[in-house]
Amino acid sequence: MQTNFTAEQLRDPGIAASNQVLRTCVHCGFCTATCPTFVLLGDELDSPRGRIYLIKDMLESGRPATEDVARHVDRCLSCLSCMTTCPSGVHYMHLVDHARAVIEKTYVRPWHDRFLRSVLAAVLPHPGRMRAALAAARLGRPFVGLLPAGSVPGKRLRAMLALAPARLPGRSTLDGARVHKAEVTRRARVALLDGCAQRVLDPAINDATIRLLTRLGVEVVVARGAGCCGALTHHMGRHDPAMASARANIDAWTRETEGEGLDGIIVNTSGCGTTVKDYGFMFRSEPSPWRERAERVSALAVDISEFLSRIGYQPTREPPGLTVAYHSACSLQHGQRVTTEPKALLRKAGFRVVEPAEGHLCCGSAGTYNLLQPEIATRLRARKLENIRATKPDLIAAGNIGCLTQLAGGGVPAVHTVQLLDWMTGGPEPAALGAVATSSPAAR
Ligand code: SF4
Ligand code: SF4
Repeated sequence: MQTNFTAEQLRDPGIAASNQVLRTCVHCGFCTATCPTFVLLGDELDSPRGRIYLIKDMLESGRPATEDVARHVDRCLSCLSCMTTCPSGVHYMHLVDHARAVIEKTYVRPWHDRFLRSVLAAVLPHPGRMRAALAAARLGRPFVGLLPAGSVPGKRLRAMLALAPARLPGRSTLDGARVHKAEVTRRARVALLDGCAQRVLDPAINDATIRLLTRLGVEVVVARGAGCCGALTHHMGRHDPAMASARANIDAWTRETEGEGLDGIIVNTSGCGTTVKDYGFMFRSEPSPWRERAERVSALAVDISEFLSRIGYQPTREPPGLTVAYHSACSLQHGQRVTTEPKALLRKAGFRVVEPAEGHLCCGSAGTYNLLQPEIATRLRARKLENIRATKPDLIAAGNIGCLTQLAGGGVPAVHTVQLLDWMTGGPEPAALGAVATSSPAAR
């Protein structure tokens, strides 16, 4: 694609990077067929190619983003299905991340949109605030019917209350910064990103990860000062808070790499993993030593399923005789291109793994998307659940808390892959399995 930026514009590192991305697009349109918003809405401007043109015009003109550009870019899930499909290797993620930051800086959103985005950015990355917000949402649930169903703020509030779990799990005894020693002779030392939202919504995921790794001879460090990866604010175009979160993590993990050393930085929420693996790019224009530190952190970042495949996994329990529908989170399959490892591990653990149709399509979770775009998110959820139920599974396994929250309450229990792997090596049965698991041979 030909671009028309001036030399002055190209001195901006963001424009320079976007220019490179734009020039790789040959506008073939292959990506449109696998884009969830194009599949649902059928509008070229809600396809990757359409958005690429809108972003190109916005950046080249140097004018503030228009309502039209903001609407179509906001509808993008950042699922990155288009990147998997694109034969030309267009790095759509870097382009849309840059576009979101420009929109955030130049477009004045309606008051309710600005307010909601500010609340989400202020609450979600902080476990204490999020716990308090979810407790308040629980109290508000009985009044959901009183909210206006026709207005945008009303729809979003309804979506928020619907997504808030009916019961909030208590704080885990394993929660917090500390070193978890290997249970057998130490073979590796890793840092675990314990994150933000996941710690509140389902602390059992981090617990299972720590138990499984230490059981396999891995020392697990939850580094002091590390926390939210920055993805939630990054995807809202809020550059400064996203960079501040990333910097805190880079700082905390650099202390570990320069201290006792690390063999990996384990991420068990694939949405966060995609961002941590991109720190090197995010810090490309930062002064030394941040650029080099960020690159080192990105090189060490690894999804839990990748790490377990690398060090070897063996179940110690009888196969449970359960059929698992593997839901491949977009951030894992498209963002990190991790596709085979989780399924191979689940099969090794003794589960029968089935793959629902349209596995490339997003479930509608996408970070804060299900709160900001509830109508599209609800349609994608229904489509995903229908495909999953058609495989007649006992349960769903996925590697991302966002997907697990989105698919909860859909008639099939949903658990993190690592919880099943932990269970099959002596860990507790995942609570979400309830009656399904208690009737399985492994639980008897
Ligand atoms: S498939 Fe790739 S090259 Fe073709 S239009 Fe989409 S982004 Fe551009
Ligand atoms: S990231 Fe997903 S929603 Fe956005 S343009 Fe690409 S395929 Fe479509």
